[in-house]
Amino acid sequence: MKGEHQGTIKILNQPLTSFSDLLSYNGGNGNLIPEFDMSFQFFLSILCILLVLSAAFFGWRYFRLRHRLSWLAKSLRASVYDDLAAGSIPLDDPLLGDLPDAVQAMLDLHLDKLDELGTEHARLAAVLDQMSDGVLIADPDGRIQFANPAAARLFDYGTNSLLYYSVTEVLRHHQLVDAWQRCQQSGHLQTESVELPAQQQYLQLIVNPDRDTPGGSLLLVQDLTRVRRLETVRRDFISNLSHELRTPLASLKALAETLQEGALDDPPAARRFLDRMQTEVDALTQMAAELLELSRIESGQVPLELRSVSPYNLLNSSAERMRLQVERAGLTISIAPEPGLPNVKADASRLEQVLVNLIHNAVKFTSPGGKVCLFAEADNQGFVRFSVRDTGAGIPDDVLPRIFERFYKVDASRTSGGTGLGLSIARHLVAFHGGHIWAESLEGKGSTFSFTVPVVD
Ligand code: ADP
Repeated sequence: MKGEHQGTIKILNQPLTSFSDLLSYNGGNGNLIPEFDMSFQFFLSILCILLVLSAAFFGWRYFRLRHRLSWLAKSLRASVYDDLAAGSIPLDDPLLGDLPDAVQAMLDLHLDKLDELGTEHARLAAVLDQMSDGVLIADPDGRIQFANPAAARLFDYGTNSLLYYSVTEVLRHHQLVDAWQRCQQSGHLQTESVELPAQQQYLQLIVNPDRDTPGGSLLLVQDLTRVRRLETVRRDFISNLSHELRTPLASLKALAETLQEGALDDPPAARRFLDRMQTEVDALTQMAAELLELSRIESGQVPLELRSVSPYNLLNSSAERMRLQVERAGLTISIAPEPGLPNVKADASRLEQVLVNLIHNAVKFTSPGGKVCLFAEADNQGFVRFSVRDTGAGIPDDVLPRIFERFYKVDASRTSGGTGLGLSIARHLVAFHGGHIWAESLEGKGSTFSFTVPVVD
């Protein structure tokens, strides 16, 4: 049997060559030998138990993993609603391996990016809030989607929001609206400047197509009122200066020519001409001195020596300095200070310069027989108010605000040798003391110039 059927199990007369033969064998009385039958059944039972146990184990692992994953998903969702707060993701679950770490790393990166974006956003918002130029963003239909506070101010909306207004409603001026429409049509940058006389404003609008929103536009509005005013002041200054120089220089030239052409041979006439030349040269010298003084004051090169100064002393010394001129002009001068005035914090010589300037003007523009009166009184806000009142020609209402400008003269023919710089110098000196100066006048009746100076602490 061994030599014949090697590698087979022979049961009774029949060789078994495979496991199926073994299972299907039903020969003889139909039974396997009893020992083999027993061990095989045992083997099968063990196998089945092992299979069931493995299935149970893997099933349990599967359900646990699913449970952990759904827990992780829940934590992630909660983190999103909780502003992606770090620390809310379960990191120490061995079942999930490196997954929570990877998710946490991704969240950290997101949080960093969000932080960066938040800082950048806050910075941009602060710049837009603080900038003096107006910024508007409009959608393709021309509805405002963004407006900074300056834009609302410039277009007179105060603190109201411009959101969802139409560009036409906000810009109001047809030239500005045209510029926006040109940009919409051409897709190119457009610039427009307009003067709004009612608001005394000069605006410049720059319209840019919004590259991120097709059809949208970005509008930048600049208030050039101050720049324009400065330009006008500078232009006026140059034209006034040349005008002021031209008059005395032309006189000097004419007088010199007259002398050359024979007036020298007439000594009394020559002396008269020389006197007039002297007057013109004095006027030029005074103008040069006042211009220099003004530029030094304006550039802060005149340091003030602030001390405690008595208002009475100031009024007296200024009146005394001008008394001779006042009398020569046939005028009377009086001083009427309020009793019990506190001392002021001032540079005495500079304040005296202001008072002398005002008295000098009062003398120049008051006819003989008129009066000049000096006052000082305390206001209840920690200032002493000084005033110089005259009964002279007065100043028309419409030009009253302009008389403190450089070179401004109400009527050039009315001023005798004035430069138009005196009040400008006075305004700066008073401002350096922390006060302000103003004028009230009734044309034909007289003027009152007043300024305030803080009292000593
Ligand atoms: P000016 O050297 O011409 O006096 P100011 O700057 O002192 O220059 O004054 C400017 C202008 O203001 C004067 O030219 C004059 O037209 C007007 N003004 C100043 N003070 C008086 C006054 N007391 N009465 C009338 N007009 C005055």
